[in-house]
Amino acid sequence: MELFENCQEFGHEQIVICNNNDVGLRAIIAIHNTTLGPALGGTRMWPYKTEEEALEDALRLSRGMTYKAAVSGLNLGGGKAVIIGDPRKDKSEALFRAFGRFIDTLHGRYITAEDVGIDVNDMEFIFQETENVVGVHQVHGGSGDPSPYTAHGTIQGMKAALQKVYGDEDLSHRSIGIQGAGHVGLHLVKQLRKEGAKVFITDIMSDSLAEAVELGAEAVGVDEIYDLEVDVFAPCALGAVINEETIPRLRCKIVAGPANNQLADNEAGSELERRDILYAPDYAVNAGGLMNVSIEFEGWNHERAIRMTRTIYYNVGRIFKIAERDGIPTWQAADRMAEERIATLGKLKLPFMGRPHRFPGRNKH
Ligand code: NAD
Repeated sequence: MELFENCQEFGHEQIVICNNNDVGLRAIIAIHNTTLGPALGGTRMWPYKTEEEALEDALRLSRGMTYKAAVSGLNLGGGKAVIIGDPRKDKSEALFRAFGRFIDTLHGRYITAEDVGIDVNDMEFIFQETENVVGVHQVHGGSGDPSPYTAHGTIQGMKAALQKVYGDEDLSHRSIGIQGAGHVGLHLVKQLRKEGAKVFITDIMSDSLAEAVELGAEAVGVDEIYDLEVDVFAPCALGAVINEETIPRLRCKIVAGPANNQLADNEAGSELERRDILYAPDYAVNAGGLMNVSIEFEGWNHERAIRMTRTIYYNVGRIFKIAERDGIPTWQAADRMAEERIATLGKLKLPFMGRPHRFPGRNKH
């Protein structure tokens, strides 16, 4: 991989290679864009087969965070870190503390959080070495588990889509098919049932599925989920589930769910549009988790988090408006909305606002 070529193509600002032989730390911090604010994004620990694979992941994920923050109206940039290692074997206090010290050297340009392979105990070690971490435990004044807020935000995205398709966002006479009864999926079931929606759900794990059924959802087969005649299909497990094989089977009017990277490629998003299925872009819909951790900067509390996740309704609605305005699919409208915000607010840095000058050593007398 040509490093600078990649940075130029995707516009990354900075890539930090972190190495500590004593603790076996090999990590990459990728800062994509800090126009809107500090680069925020989780740390992923994964047994990458090659360094190239790790770098590619860091570059791709950090760029995604820039777009998610921008489209969500947050004053944050995009960043992400990857630690090369097996989360089942290679974790230690020293490794995470060494990593925390590297984060600290960036003086807040990068702020980390949990991601795949990292748990709350690892975060505690990072937090011992740097303030620049969010999603810390509520006993430390942090925001804790983001899943309920991701679910709440997802419902706001669904409502915006229902409003667009039916002119009516009331969930009580709507049906939703959820793929995945994990952390977010179960909260989604709970909240959707509270609003009176009919909920179908599937999961590969029978115990998770049973939990969802207890909350009032109807279980369906793992493959059956695509064929359901529902108002909304909500991917809530894996990425790339909207692809050329599944799209012809979909009988929903809307795709709106929290899973990351739902579209196998952009063409899949355009194909949904051709088939008259409204796609609510995933990174706008699932931003509740990011919003929740971002509140830690000002002091987290539940009401603030709920108030902020409600804005997803307007963000997603605005994406639909841009799609209509420019005659483009919604996936592209989301990217455009993010890029427009970065470009416009980036210009606010001009003109220079003045700052008291210091001329040490100068003296008129
Ligand atoms: P999770 O791991 O708790 O849940 C995922 C569930 O999907 C598991 O129960 C798993 O058994 C199930 N699953 C896996 N493969 C499946 C398949 N083929 N068919 C049906 N079910 C399958 O994860 P989560 O935290 O609930 O996150 C769900 C999705 O939302 C992920 O894509 C995640 O990246 C995204 N997301 C989560 C958050 C958050 O706050 N947790 C925030 C933003 C985005």
